[in-house]
Amino acid sequence: MDRIDIKSLTFEELSEQIHAMELPAYRAGQICQWLHEKQAVSFDEMTNLPAALRSRLEERFELVVLKPVEVKISAIDGTRKYLFALPDGNVIESVLMRYKHGNSVCISSQVGCRMGCRFCASTLDGLARNLRPSEMLEQVYRIGRDTGERVSNVVVMGSGEPLDNYDNLLRFIRLLTDERGLNISQRNITVSTCGLVPQMLKLAEEDLQITLALSLHASSDATRRQLMPVAKRYPLSEVLDACHTYFAKTGRRMTFEYSLVRGVNDSMEEAGALARLLKDQHGHVNLIPVNPIKERDFVQSERKTVEAFKNQLEKSGINVTIRREMGRDIHGACGQLRRSYLMS
Ligand code: SAH
Repeated sequence: MDRIDIKSLTFEELSEQIHAMELPAYRAGQICQWLHEKQAVSFDEMTNLPAALRSRLEERFELVVLKPVEVKISAIDGTRKYLFALPDGNVIESVLMRYKHGNSVCISSQVGCRMGCRFCASTLDGLARNLRPSEMLEQVYRIGRDTGERVSNVVVMGSGEPLDNYDNLLRFIRLLTDERGLNISQRNITVSTCGLVPQMLKLAEEDLQITLALSLHASSDATRRQLMPVAKRYPLSEVLDACHTYFAKTGRRMTFEYSLVRGVNDSMEEAGALARLLKDQHGHVNLIPVNPIKERDFVQSERKTVEAFKNQLEKSGINVTIRREMGRDIHGACGQLRRSYLMS
């Protein structure tokens, strides 16, 4: 029988397991502290448990721990890009970004991705599998341990479509924000989606205070379909309705991500259409000059085009930021570190 993934259990579930093993209830608290606060890498590290109990735990449970295969550190701003090995040998990427307001970790939610966005490296080989809650948590835990610094923000913007791994994502968020664990504020968590409408509407009902980011990337269905196959399933009107609902139900303002691709979605007409599209929305636009990948011939918009696009939106009263490029020297677009590792 497969061992139970202990780090993906809620405290209540862990307590039930402890009860089923006929152990005193306080053991659940001790084990939980080792797992989520001290972030132990083995049961043997749990020194306030008797040795016999540690071997029983080993037999019954799997302790998921990620192993760094490669760490790249930016000489410019201290950004760190990690390549982690999962227990089954698959590899994923995570990034630590250092800001004035604290440390932010960008995690992957799947191994690969099946959404097929044309400019994205993560999706080139399709989806290998979903990540378990423990494997999402571990990205944050290992980076915190490695740097010895507190992680205050988590963005689910690495490889994968988080809402395509919905139940594991929700469990991950609950564990990450649990006061028995890292106790990260829900408001400091952002989940980015390519726009899976049914899951967005479901998320709006979860009574969470997380930020939802929508990857918009176009102001017309025709252009969006060219860049993102998912747009064939959900037209902009439905996706933007879902954003309205998310704000109405949660009071959380949306983030609209817009990757600028030269000659594809960066004209002033697109900017005007985008302003009209978003005029009744609550949220802001984050412009990202597209990060070229060698498998496609997309080119970044020129700096002056990015500025003009921003000004055009601002003239219409839309809040806009241009994403600051972090770790330029180690960058490579999303999913490229993993890909270069797999190809070598
Ligand atoms: N699947 C989710 C989250 C992962 S990608 C989503 O689609 O939102 C995080 C963001 O980076 C998305 O907005 C995605 O469209 C964007 N992105 C991916 N590859 C990119 C690239 N090469 N250049 C610029 N943005 C990219």
